[in-house]
Amino acid sequence: MDYTGKISRQVAGIPRSGIRDFFELVQGRDDVISLGVGEPDFATPWHIREAAIYSLEKGHTSYTSNLGLMSLRKEINRYVNDFFHVDYDPASEILITVGVSEAIDLALRALIDPGDEVIYHTPCYVSYLPSIRLAYGVGVDVPTAKRDDFALKAEMLEAAITPKTRVLMLNFPTNPTGAVMPDDELKKIAALCIKHDLIVITDEIYSELRYDEEEHLSIASLPGMRERTILLHGFSKAYSMTGFRLGYACAPAPLIEAMMKIHQYAMLCAPITSQAAALEALQNGDAAMNEMRESYHHRRDFTVKRLNEMGIDCHAPGGAFYVFPDIRPTGLSSKDFATKLLEAENVAAVPGDAFGSAGEGFLRCCYATSFDELKIAMSRMERFLGSL
Ligand code: PLP
Repeated sequence: MDYTGKISRQVAGIPRSGIRDFFELVQGRDDVISLGVGEPDFATPWHIREAAIYSLEKGHTSYTSNLGLMSLRKEINRYVNDFFHVDYDPASEILITVGVSEAIDLALRALIDPGDEVIYHTPCYVSYLPSIRLAYGVGVDVPTAKRDDFALKAEMLEAAITPKTRVLMLNFPTNPTGAVMPDDELKKIAALCIKHDLIVITDEIYSELRYDEEEHLSIASLPGMRERTILLHGFSKAYSMTGFRLGYACAPAPLIEAMMKIHQYAMLCAPITSQAAALEALQNGDAAMNEMRESYHHRRDFTVKRLNEMGIDCHAPGGAFYVFPDIRPTGLSSKDFATKLLEAENVAAVPGDAFGSAGEGFLRCCYATSFDELKIAMSRMERFLGSL
């Protein structure tokens, strides 16, 4: 059967992720060291896995409320208060989702009418533009630059705002650059959102993974911003719980209600076993999280030092678990560099242009891989550079 014309035009018009294309090249190769997948190399801490097992043993295998377990929403309220300094009512302002991925989709679909413009900064996480398009919105990207350590500049944002702009999406620390926002610039951005009456979706998934001495500041906590911000967070990265697929959204009740309407029909609720695990993570997971963060910090320092030693300019990103070295002096495009590196040395890293055109000339290397592998990967990369 010919399926052309059977698939929705909206879906057919969306390209596959550049990461996926690249990883098809990796399939079937032996001895590949992957710096490609944005996923912690740790198994979920044992006490969190145990909480999931215990929940199953007790026979907790039912649906939960659409919003999620009240016990977990209360714990999220406590955590978000402590960490982000914003207070949300567990009864009406917190929605538990299937990862931050679902929360991004819900937030966009709840806010956007066809043709509304959504501003996002690039290089960015691969799902943002497709999710905007699937919600029938128009994505407007504001590039960030190496000279600003990939932070978003308020004047660049202001230049992109039009009467059709409804939403600003933020993600700091950023996937793929590891960038963090200087507080002063974030305050200027908040002022612009108030001036232009924008709603902000802030994806805080890497907020615990910061290696500078600064306390993480969320735009949701700035004066006048709580009422116009949807704060998204989850358990995948800081607690190494990607497979549990658990995230949450915090926002004023009318926004959560709108997101919940979609969630209740599309998903019903997040899995109860994962919710039990997340409760344990929030109640007793700090020590394990701090240990993992220390390990990433060590690996970040090593990776940045090694790349700079071999003549590749790489700034030390303030957060997440990615470095984004500048490979422009090699004269290769990011795709050619990544492909040749894979072919010659069996090291997989993602071409920067998979994260938007502002990423061209860079490479995303995820250092959440074992230290031993990281060392080998750096030696192989050095040999590859020597061969160019
Ligand atoms: N947001 C960003 C910026 C990410 O990098 C990722 C995963 O890589 C996600 C969201 C998806 O997170 P989750 O596993 O909670 O769906």
